[in-house]
Amino acid sequence: MLRVPLVVPFMERDEASATLAYLAKLKDGWLMVDSGYNDQSAFDLLRSQLEALGIPLQDLRWLLITHYHPDHSGLAQRIKEASGARVIIHQDDWEILQHAVSQAQTWTLDGLVEWARSLGVPPSELDEFYRTGTFGRMLFPRGLEPDLILQGDENVIPGEDHLRMILTPGHSPGHVCLYDESRKMLFSGDHVLVEITPHISPSHLTSYNQLGQYLDALRKVRPLDVQMVLPAHERPFTHLAQRVDEILEHHRQRLAEVIAGLSSGPSTPWALASSVHWDVGPWEDMVATNRLLAVRETLAHLQFLESNGQVVSEEQDQVRLYRLNPSPARGGCSNT
Ligand SMILES: [Zn+2]
Repeated sequence: MLRVPLVVPFMERDEASATLAYLAKLKDGWLMVDSGYNDQSAFDLLRSQLEALGIPLQDLRWLLITHYHPDHSGLAQRIKEASGARVIIHQDDWEILQHAVSQAQTWTLDGLVEWARSLGVPPSELDEFYRTGTFGRMLFPRGLEPDLILQGDENVIPGEDHLRMILTPGHSPGHVCLYDESRKMLFSGDHVLVEITPHISPSHLTSYNQLGQYLDALRKVRPLDVQMVLPAHERPFTHLAQRVDEILEHHRQRLAEVIAGLSSGPSTPWALASSVHWDVGPWEDMVATNRLLAVRETLAHLQFLESNGQVVSEEQDQVRLYRLNPSPARGGCSNT
């Protein structure tokens, strides 16, 4: 058996919110890729799926967390305790996750309101920003100590040189994909999904120009010899290069929209987000959470354009205003 998708749904158990965890066969035992939210019913379901497959928990040797988000990391500590599996995460995501793991009460909130204000978020919506900052805290793993903290661009699973963990930042700073070179499979986490365009949502906790990192990381996986992509949501698919091109095109269009939005003058990320097209529907009808995601996505595109010199920004009264660069550097106007 090469790989087994385990569906770890959460709450409503609808397909879209489910995390797909996978098993990869090792010389001795199994490697699990991702888990699910830290939730008793999710854990029970995972255990019963393993039982149905005839795989005892004790046969799990490693658990790779592709990125720190709770739908991927949440069950790590329960799995580790029950199985003895060693947990792997990249340093750049562990730096964020360890605050949640240590139950620091304010880690998501320090600096949040100032940051939101700087985006031009109106006072009436700041409460919602604050609320999302506290959401999901209980769904992270508790007391987790990783056993292998990855550094740098590429690592292999110890003793399994064909299982390459490739750093693919963007969706999170330390996101990794697992490439099974001998079986030509890519466990893509949330880096490449078949229909959803992964959120590139900078926050006060993440680094500058995540979109630039993400586009580079898409180009990094595109040439891999892959017959099957095994993403953490939706469903497996085969057309990696084509899907990467579609996502690159999506961002190219969004960048053009942001540039067009700035043609009428300087703008905050918030004001700009309200003027571009979003798949979830018109801005006025959007629920607050989606507006927050939209403004963060817009910021990702602004930072990308700023980093290549097409856009400049300055702070006025603690709000960051972006405008088109009247004299952009030559050659800096493409994301290809
Ligand atoms: Zn996810």
